[in-house]
Amino acid sequence: MNEIPEKVAQRLRTCTTFPTPPAVAMQVIALAQDPEIDLARVADVVSADPAIAAKVMRIANSAMYARRRQSTNLRQALIVLGLNATLTLALSFTLVNALRRDPSKGFDFGAYWKRAILSGTWGKLLATEFGRRDAEEVFLASLLQDIGMLALDKIAPDVYSGISAFQLEHSRVCQHEQSCIGTDHRSVGSWLLQSWNMPPALVRGAQHSHDPSAAGVENDHKDFVRCVALSGELADVWLTDQSRDSIERAGFQVRRHLGILPNRLHEMFGLIREQIPVAENLFDIEMLGADHLQEIMETAREALVVRNLIEIDKNKDLEHQRTRLTEENTALRVESERDGLTAVFNRRAFEEAVEREFAAAAKNQWPLSVVFVDLDKFKNVNDTYGHQGGDAMLKEVAMLLTGTLRESDVVARYGGDEFVLLLPGVDAVQVDIIARRVVETARSRMVEGSGGQKFSITLSLGVATCDRNTSFPTSQDLIAAADAALYHSKRNGRDRYTRFDEIRAA
Ligand code: GH3
Ligand code: MG
Repeated sequence: MNEIPEKVAQRLRTCTTFPTPPAVAMQVIALAQDPEIDLARVADVVSADPAIAAKVMRIANSAMYARRRQSTNLRQALIVLGLNATLTLALSFTLVNALRRDPSKGFDFGAYWKRAILSGTWGKLLATEFGRRDAEEVFLASLLQDIGMLALDKIAPDVYSGISAFQLEHSRVCQHEQSCIGTDHRSVGSWLLQSWNMPPALVRGAQHSHDPSAAGVENDHKDFVRCVALSGELADVWLTDQSRDSIERAGFQVRRHLGILPNRLHEMFGLIREQIPVAENLFDIEMLGADHLQEIMETAREALVVRNLIEIDKNKDLEHQRTRLTEENTALRVESERDGLTAVFNRRAFEEAVEREFAAAAKNQWPLSVVFVDLDKFKNVNDTYGHQGGDAMLKEVAMLLTGTLRESDVVARYGGDEFVLLLPGVDAVQVDIIARRVVETARSRMVEGSGGQKFSITLSLGVATCDRNTSFPTSQDLIAAADAALYHSKRNGRDRYTRFDEIRAA
């Protein structure tokens, strides 16, 4: 079972306003897990709920499925859709219907469902791109990936009041939830799906929904998880600022983790545009006006096609597949790559990763940033609160760093009280924002000593970036630059960050 604080679990168990899945959904799940299942029995269950039967008919006859002939009865529709797709679709309709009742006040329900349905549509498209046969399951897992937010909103409505959760970067939403209630929607969502006996793929999808690298996921499930996580990032393009930047960022991730090149991704934006009205119709939700869609398509063209025309290179695709295989093998060694105390990567793993990312960045002209993070006057913590207090602080800082960054970034313990961050695709402007966030968040984080005393700590950071403006001959030079910048932060009074280009310019 996924771990969530017992207090939260208790509230979820006793929360009467959060709907459990309706009976039909439960029956569908049971059917899906029965290897002997046949179409006739599925037809029986589905036809017991006329609303669902109508939707199944509608989707079988929609542009997504109807090939030659229209289905005139449920049985034909089931044959067109196939068993798995029918089960998954029936499940998504029943759940969406049940969960859409009774919205609360602080939470932006409209935005939630937009993200959910856009994610589902993207997830299915990504899965189809790889010829996966479980595209419908990816659809459902993507659709439900944020279900923990609905649950958290029910048991703690204050969590979302006053923040526009869907305009924030999604990893920051988790951080906010963590600080309010000590857990986040990934953990709550996967806990909930598991307690409903949903298939493990859906539980896994919610759990790793922010982890497009699928680190720590079994090899067989990696691609599934990647599709789900990236579906959310792509959906966010519509929900956040719709800027060229956010499309580029999503494009970068999709290329890095699924090997889909920008030109192809642009074509996929076109397919999504066609599928959105179908999804709107199926789920009775209005998502985006035609003008708006047009605008995003134009931005996507600029971000994905125009800029990349210059670097069309088929070999890159192959290269990418190779990097991905290496990544998968690396995942097998996850345990040996972790630091025992803080569970972030250890120094050896960082050194391997930096070599790999440095080469990839140079080849593809992606920016790459390295940030050293050292605890200020950490010896005092050990002296005052004992070694255990010191250890608790190290763990807290590791959590703070992981919580602040995207999951595809590498957080590693370099040794003692020193951490290092490896941020592929992050340029000088973005790293500035990240470094400031880390320094500021640390000041306000409190840790409890064994005697119940609360204490905090400050951090010193050193930042180096290779990008269009600054290059380094080797990864070791990049690391040395970040280290030199850290030294400056220490010398200039600690509790701050310094960029290498500042000291070089000085
Ligand atoms: P500065 O601001 O200059 O960094 O001061 P500092 O006190 O943090 O100095 P320094 O970085 O040299 O000290 C690191 C200390 O971290 C020394 C060592 O006792 C402590 N330390 C190293 N590893 C661990 C660990 O695993 N657990 C605990 N509790 N302490 C550790
Ligand atoms: Mg220190």
